[in-house]
Amino acid sequence: MSTTATPAHVLVSGAGIAGLALALQLVRRGIRTTVVERAESPRPGGQAVDLRGASREVAERLGLLPLIDPLRLHEKGLSYVDARGRVFGRMSMEDFDGKGAVAEIEIARGDLADVLRRELAAADHDGLLDLRYGDLIASIQQDADGVDVGFVHSPALRVDAVVAADGVHSATRRLVFGPEERFRTYLGGYAVFFTMPTPDDVEEGWFSMRFTPGITFGIRPDLDPATSKAMLTLRMPHDPALRGDTEAQRALVRRALDGAGWHASTIVAAMDEATDFYFDELVSIDVPHPAQGRVALLGDAASSGSPMSGMGTATAMIGAYLLASRLAEGSDVPEALERYARDLRPFAEQGRRLMGGGIHRMVPATRLETALLRVSMGVMLSRPMRPLVRRMFAASHEELPLPV
Ligand SMILES: Cc1cc2nc3c(=O)[nH]c(=O)nc-3n(C[C@H](O)[C@H](O)[C@H](O)COP(=O)(O)OP(=O)(O)OC[C@H]3O[C@@H](n4cnc5c(N)ncnc54)[C@H](O)[C@@H]3O)c2cc1C
Repeated sequence: MSTTATPAHVLVSGAGIAGLALALQLVRRGIRTTVVERAESPRPGGQAVDLRGASREVAERLGLLPLIDPLRLHEKGLSYVDARGRVFGRMSMEDFDGKGAVAEIEIARGDLADVLRRELAAADHDGLLDLRYGDLIASIQQDADGVDVGFVHSPALRVDAVVAADGVHSATRRLVFGPEERFRTYLGGYAVFFTMPTPDDVEEGWFSMRFTPGITFGIRPDLDPATSKAMLTLRMPHDPALRGDTEAQRALVRRALDGAGWHASTIVAAMDEATDFYFDELVSIDVPHPAQGRVALLGDAASSGSPMSGMGTATAMIGAYLLASRLAEGSDVPEALERYARDLRPFAEQGRRLMGGGIHRMVPATRLETALLRVSMGVMLSRPMRPLVRRMFAASHEELPLPV
């Protein structure tokens, strides 16, 4: 095993945005890379994700912008609707120069993952990549010279470094860094996403959203105008029994949308047909130092502000860039991972900030709160208030420079 040169072999757990973005850079730099992904095949779906500031810069440096460009969602902005679908507040792209809730570059998460997978296949001239679906790490044992990794299905491997990019509930993090509870804070609700047919009467190109007591739900444009993404945020106490129980999750959504007006029943009907139903608790993850010897955490496994931050994918792209750069420097692997952990810190902190001020601001609990939120939204989105709102978004997305 190498100790003072670029690592010869890196194992990445998880083929989400973080894992794929890292694997692409490692393979391009001639590093043998094994990726294990628990799902049996690429996981489709996901809402529009933003690339702005440093994450846009990463996409540019990796030469991905020409591939992203044709897949860009040209969202016109965000509008709030009432029970009958009448708009009472808007935040348009132009009003906020692409720095509001809708960013200049928006691409569906699944489309970005496809771009990364295609580029990865194209970069792998020398057979350096081994991308395995349907497998996961079962054990990790590291020593001064390398890491022995056991898998549930494949034969064991000895590698130079292991990167856990297996999401918010990372099993690899549990094996090496300790239980999830140590790093997790429940943020007061659940997020649900899936693809649905676009209803005839939603405004083309607008992300339309409605809030009612206990649930905020929206319909967001997709690349294909025939389909849209349903996006729901439920406010409720934590219920551990929901994890992994899709039937209970769908039943919960059905109850929450019952009588919620606008397209609530269309969304429920679409949910029953959706093949990309995604449901997860809203938690933030903060691993203060995401490196331990030859194992590092990347993406949501290291730090996450939940989908409410709107920054998960951006932070994953930036983290992958910082980590690949450090691994390619040719220093000893633990030292490279230490440097990465330090580099990541400001971006991770920024990525945990909640864009809308958290669930209490986004999802009202009672009818009175719903009425008050509607009034305050009307005021916040009025023309005179725009400079203030623009400053708020700019502060939460202050542009951190990406190291060269
Ligand atoms: C299908 C899907 C849809 C999503 N939709 C949205 C969305 O609409 N809006 C939003 O804000 N965020 C969404 N997210 C989360 C968002 O993608 C991430 O916050 C962000 O891109 C950071 O990505 P990540 O690669 O760190 O984590 P993730 O995107 O969660 O990727 C982690 C990957 O690791 C895999 N994995 C999990 N456990 C293991 C294991 N033990 N071994 C191996 N592999 C494992 C998962 O299957 C997944 O492919 C979605 C994630 C997924 C997987």
